[in-house]
Amino acid sequence: MCFLPASRPLRCAVIGNPVAHSLSPQIHAAFAAEIGLELHYARLTATEASFARRVNDFFTGGGTGLNVTLPFKTLAFSLVAELPARLARTGAVNTLWYRDGSLHGENTDGIGLVRDLLHNLGWPLAGRRLLLLGAGGAARGVLEPLLAEGPAEVALANRTQAKAGALAATLPKATGARVRVLSQAELATAEPPDLIINTTSAGLQGGRPQLPASLVGPASHLYDLVYGAEPTGFQLWGRELGAAATADGLGMLVEQAAASFYIWHGRRVETAPVISRLRDRLRTLGTDP
Ligand code: NAP
Repeated sequence: MCFLPASRPLRCAVIGNPVAHSLSPQIHAAFAAEIGLELHYARLTATEASFARRVNDFFTGGGTGLNVTLPFKTLAFSLVAELPARLARTGAVNTLWYRDGSLHGENTDGIGLVRDLLHNLGWPLAGRRLLLLGAGGAARGVLEPLLAEGPAEVALANRTQAKAGALAATLPKATGARVRVLSQAELATAEPPDLIINTTSAGLQGGRPQLPASLVGPASHLYDLVYGAEPTGFQLWGRELGAAATADGLGMLVEQAAASFYIWHGRRVETAPVISRLRDRLRTLGTDP
């Protein structure tokens, strides 16, 4: 797994548009400091037209690894020649590296979410009933890693229901048996799930997906992939309805970064201190997600 080119310092970057807000440089700098790695981690911007060239220039210039953020995860996916079947189904990669003459990709969002849920929050998944809201790139990236943890079932719901159906249809038959798509009408009569995961981008504008209050019970746990200085609209909604616990996606962000860091540098890092420092920084500066 270890891939250390000879040149020092190592160069990594996040590429997106916009990218100025990205916390990835701070996260990777903290990981590098933890293990004494000399690392230069930059922010790169691109357009759809320039993305492939920017990626190529970065790696031919000696770069070690690229994180890919919105809106380029699908484009990044299209640049990677050989993908495992699981990854081919997600249609999106957020981590790129160059090895043995070709570009490699991975999607660490699912690994990051599962690690945050299980290890940081202590919210079990095995045998639980999950509701996954949204059917975009993030939902695609996290669905199979969640299913691999053995939940009793995963219900999918999305504003555009057909997209949730299309996502469920990508799954292999055995896995898909534990997945069902719920309409808005079915959501209104559903039992409260153990865990509701909001992968929609509604929270980026301070909103939340419109959902029936009956979905939240006293044992409900709510997780929002969006994060920020304050609890998200989805978290506040859950708290008002008496949910047992709510969390935002800051831990997932740090955990997906740690998974990329491992791919590029072959080293595991402590994530808890980094999550805690970023949380303090967000609270102090009131930084937007
Ligand atoms: P995407 O591909 O654009 O998908 C957006 C999804 O949100 C779609 O399912 C869309 O529904 C739904 N949606 C948007 N506005 C909505 C609204 N007002 N009400 C209900 N549903 C709404 O985006 P993505 O890549 O999946 O990312 C989703 C979110 O996850 C983003 O906020 C991103 O920042 C966050 N994220 C966080 C992490 C982390 O590490 N914490 C990692 C990855 C992503 P339709 O299909 O009906 O349009």
